[in-house]
Amino acid sequence: MNTKPIVGIVSPCYNEALVLPETSAQINAVLADLAARNLISEKSFAVFIDDGSKDQTWSIIEQQARQLAHIKGLKLAGNVGHQKALLAGLITFKDEADALISIDADLQDDVRVIEDMIVKFKSGTDVVYGVRKERVTDTFFKRNTALLFYRLMKIMKVNIIYNHADYRLCSQRVLNALSEFGEVNLFLRGIIPSIGFRSDVVYYDRLERFAGESKYPFRKMAAFAWNGVTSFSNYPLKLVTIVGFVIFFFCLLMTGYALFALYTGNVVPGWLSTVLPMYFLGGVQLFCFGIIGEYIGKIYSEVKQRPRYFIDKRVD
Ligand code: UDP
Ligand code: MG
Repeated sequence: MNTKPIVGIVSPCYNEALVLPETSAQINAVLADLAARNLISEKSFAVFIDDGSKDQTWSIIEQQARQLAHIKGLKLAGNVGHQKALLAGLITFKDEADALISIDADLQDDVRVIEDMIVKFKSGTDVVYGVRKERVTDTFFKRNTALLFYRLMKIMKVNIIYNHADYRLCSQRVLNALSEFGEVNLFLRGIIPSIGFRSDVVYYDRLERFAGESKYPFRKMAAFAWNGVTSFSNYPLKLVTIVGFVIFFFCLLMTGYALFALYTGNVVPGWLSTVLPMYFLGGVQLFCFGIIGEYIGKIYSEVKQRPRYFIDKRVD
């Protein structure tokens, strides 16, 4: 294994002028320290992706890049959102580093675990997930919506790492694999675990936002969670099939009861012929919808043309 890998830190920024000088100073210091201790190459760098910010973010990035040895910048044409901005950084810089670490620009992800990630990478791990220990610094609202998010993912059978956001290290071959995913609705937390390769986690305490405010209001969080479900699982469609089947089954039971009632003469005239077909047709219709849905689900996943597998190694 490469003993002094080139490591790149990728950080998407949207209106982060208030935190950026501090963030780049801290990350620059970490990189300088790791390089001085011969843990990483001198060529290691950090790149800030300006996701179409409306404030001074870009001019600060430019200024930081001029002043600090390890800092670079990338400006996107417009605001594309956190996931796509991050992807832009990962794809653009994947060939310039042995591994890239993605991190939020607001210093909520503890920069001290960068070293742990690199140590794990050097021992042959391809993906290192940063996992939050406690959510003590988050508000009650954020903590509980986050909990709901992970519950939902579990119920809908989407495979993600619990309490891991987008603070992670990916080796170059993981990034090469990532670049083969052509989908528009990106959900990196679902895609990276689906790629495979050896992975590990490092734990850290989620810190308070250094300055500025969260760019993820509830509306965006809900859209993000729904995208996570619909781009990784057809389970909601399956639920429709199941519900349809349950109603159908319930209707069969009711038919049994109705026949019994008819036999004992204990029935309101007209009740049977009104209620039974309603449940029966309702059940059958939902069931059919579900089946059609399953096919649409299949078409959907085919249309996306995701690569089916990646080759890890070979022997000749
Ligand atoms: N971000 C971005 N584009 C956006 C929204 C957010 O690049 O449209 C960046 C933001 O600058 C930050 C990261 O994504 O570095 C996470 O956003 P934020 O801290 O606002 O989310 P939270 O931590 O509150 O979930
Ligand atoms: Mg944040």
